[in-house]
Amino acid sequence: MKFIDLDTQYRRIKPKLLERIEELLDSGKYIMGPQVAELESTLANYTNRKYCISVSSGTDALLIPLMAYGIGRGDAVFVPSFTFFASAEVISFLGATPIFIEVEEDTFNIDINHLIKEIERVKSEGKLTPRMIIPVGLFGLIPDFVQINEIAKKYNLLIMEDAAQSFGAEYNGIKSCKFGDVSATSFYPAKPLGAYGDGGAIFTDDAHLANIIKSIRVHGQGEDNYNNVRIGLNGRLDTIQALVLIEKMKMLDEELIARDRVANLYNQYLKSVKTPKIANNYKSAWAQYSVLAENGEQRTAIMKKLNENNIPSVIYYPKPLHLQDAFKDLHYKNGDLPITESISERVFSLPMHPYLEEKDIKDISELINY
Ligand SMILES: *Cc1c(COP(=O)(O)O)cnc(C)c1O
Repeated sequence: MKFIDLDTQYRRIKPKLLERIEELLDSGKYIMGPQVAELESTLANYTNRKYCISVSSGTDALLIPLMAYGIGRGDAVFVPSFTFFASAEVISFLGATPIFIEVEEDTFNIDINHLIKEIERVKSEGKLTPRMIIPVGLFGLIPDFVQINEIAKKYNLLIMEDAAQSFGAEYNGIKSCKFGDVSATSFYPAKPLGAYGDGGAIFTDDAHLANIIKSIRVHGQGEDNYNNVRIGLNGRLDTIQALVLIEKMKMLDEELIARDRVANLYNQYLKSVKTPKIANNYKSAWAQYSVLAENGEQRTAIMKKLNENNIPSVIYYPKPLHLQDAFKDLHYKNGDLPITESISERVFSLPMHPYLEEKDIKDISELINY
């Protein structure tokens, strides 16, 4: 059994995709071919954003807006500790300070009360300037932006949605990548909308910000291509990846429905682990189907049994960010974020893809329930 099944999807898009790749290779427009703009307008329409700027990875999609806002030394950026490393890496990369926030056990997303507490703490200490919140749509579920928006307004903070795992998800009828001042997603192959290589995109409704982002994407170029007006990157998306994404966008909604069906079946069959409950006004993109064991021993026993039966399972994430070696200069220690630490000891993810069959879900669940 496969953890994710990219082959079935490839077979579906193969004829049309190969035809378009051949057309592209014949045209020679490998860098910023017209298909890149075609993808950007498709994605902007889908998410109801005014601007979509495609980039070379999800990490660059997070980094470039921080650069555009001039975030750096002396700035505090609030980010959940339970997420992929890149969510916080980009903050430190620019010399700013990540402030790690707890997540909730029910959603795996940022804990609002702890967020408020930490903003107040940073403010009262007076060493750093609070600038931005980076809420993450972990495992495909959008965080509670009604509350996050209120906090951002109250404390005058920017919001960047890390939607690397939540592209296609919805909250109150609004699609992921439409939340906050700016949103970033990833097209890493295993994400809900994945390319056949690295890629990402930035979304905003702010024309001024979009122009700066476009400039940073190509070495800080100005109106005149050979006058560079700021320090930037080589952050472009390959035209060939844009073609892959254009084809995959055609079946995204159908695949999201299929993922939801898989998750609901797991929820129905699984009895001995804590399953994710999604409230009515949310639609998850189900980047991962993650459950909580009672404790570390139960998790180890279940994963061992699955492995013996050739069923893959993975731990996302075994080590919270505040305890990563790379952040040791920030002096966090074990026990600082107890909920996050407990989740890291108990969480594991089961096979999840749109083509998983009910019989497999039932078999996996029975092995776990026993
Ligand atoms: C995958 C991921 C990223 C980084 O995306 P890349 O395309 O791999 O650079 C950032 N944040 C989260 C939450 C992710 O899951």
